[in-house]
Amino acid sequence: MTKEGKEITDNQEITEMSETKQTTLAEGAASAARTYEAKAYAAASADAPLAPAAIRRRDPRPQDVQLEVLYCGVCHSDLHQVRNEWQSVMPTVYPCVPGHEIIGRVVKAGGAVRRFKEGDLAAVGCMVDSCGTCASCRDGQEQFCEGPATFTYNSPDPHIGGVTHGGYSESLVVDEAFALRVPDQLDPAGAAPLQCAGITTYSPLRHWNVGKGQKVGVVGLGGLGHMAVKFANAFGARVVVLTTSPGKAEDAVRLGAHDVVVSKNAAEMQKHAGSFDFILDTVSAVHDLNAYLNLLKRDGTLTLVGAPETPLPVKAFSLLFPRRQLAGSLIGGIRETQEMLDFCAEHGITSDVEVIPIQKINEAYERLLKGDVKYRFVIDMASLK
Ligand code: NAP
Ligand code: ZN
Repeated sequence: MTKEGKEITDNQEITEMSETKQTTLAEGAASAARTYEAKAYAAASADAPLAPAAIRRRDPRPQDVQLEVLYCGVCHSDLHQVRNEWQSVMPTVYPCVPGHEIIGRVVKAGGAVRRFKEGDLAAVGCMVDSCGTCASCRDGQEQFCEGPATFTYNSPDPHIGGVTHGGYSESLVVDEAFALRVPDQLDPAGAAPLQCAGITTYSPLRHWNVGKGQKVGVVGLGGLGHMAVKFANAFGARVVVLTTSPGKAEDAVRLGAHDVVVSKNAAEMQKHAGSFDFILDTVSAVHDLNAYLNLLKRDGTLTLVGAPETPLPVKAFSLLFPRRQLAGSLIGGIRETQEMLDFCAEHGITSDVEVIPIQKINEAYERLLKGDVKYRFVIDMASLK
């Protein structure tokens, strides 16, 4: 939409037309859909703290499940979005109710629902719908839906208008096609972050075939990073954590790292130059990518999952010698998310969490900015009652 140049005029028209269509549909549906009120926590603007709010949810359709939200993880993306740090790509619509690492209990299942019944646990991640017919949807990569996908919060809501609202809420309604089964073996609070931090790290490690005989770096030991360490270890790779926090070294090893490098120490970094097959970069803030690219061996890949608000400069020669690759990855599709949950159940993997009441959410955001979280905050939604 923000691309420049005349040659994309047609695309712009298509985008504009589909937006108009979406708005009309939303307005039509908004008048038709019955809704109910739910308690939530919302940000009223980019510089307002999160505060109690009342939102509307649609009454479940035949294919929908209605969840009582039990736990919701706190992703750094929630903070970026609430503070409108991604305004050039996905501007925030206020009030904004974030949260896309959701575990809930099914309290209502529509007549056409096949995979869930009342009383079951169900999980919801970053998406709640997609077109279902484009090439990406057909490939099970709904996150890249050309529609585009309807994300769990801050996406146009085609049913009741406005934008979608996330899991910092007592209740959520979702098409069962976008709800995941939660294996019994998984602790619900520890399983909540798997819906984003889990799949966002599992998917690229699988896509780039990380496994035995490879040396893999994880940059940043936060919510995503600690899950990447667990998965890369489980896949059989030699795992090295690259951290700015020397105090996290012991935890890194406990989580599954074979070695820890304090990235501020140039001499330590130099020891690993040209030695990594793959590096997953989970950093949420501006940092020097070239320092990490230099650690890759020939044909090695650095994949970005972290999404800092400002561009990261890359020196051409960090890539040219010796034919290194810089890539990106976005969450994962529904099928792969279920595969990841089942893998976690089989291997006893959950997130290391600090459970907080919703009233501590603003404090949690400040701690997130300081890297002071071990290693994911999860909101106990009973605190909202
Ligand atoms: P987080 O828990 O805050 O972890 C980020 C980690 O980055 C910190 O713990 C810290 O680790 C490191 N870090 C922070 N500031 C740094 C700096 N200035 N220089 C170097 N390292 C720094 O965040 P998260 O929830 O894991 O999310 C990480 C990023 O991924 C966010 O930008 C988020 O929006 C993005 N994300 C992307 C996707 C996707 O689909 N691609 C999905 C979810 C989240 P150390 O203390 O170890 O250095
Ligand atoms: Zn997330």
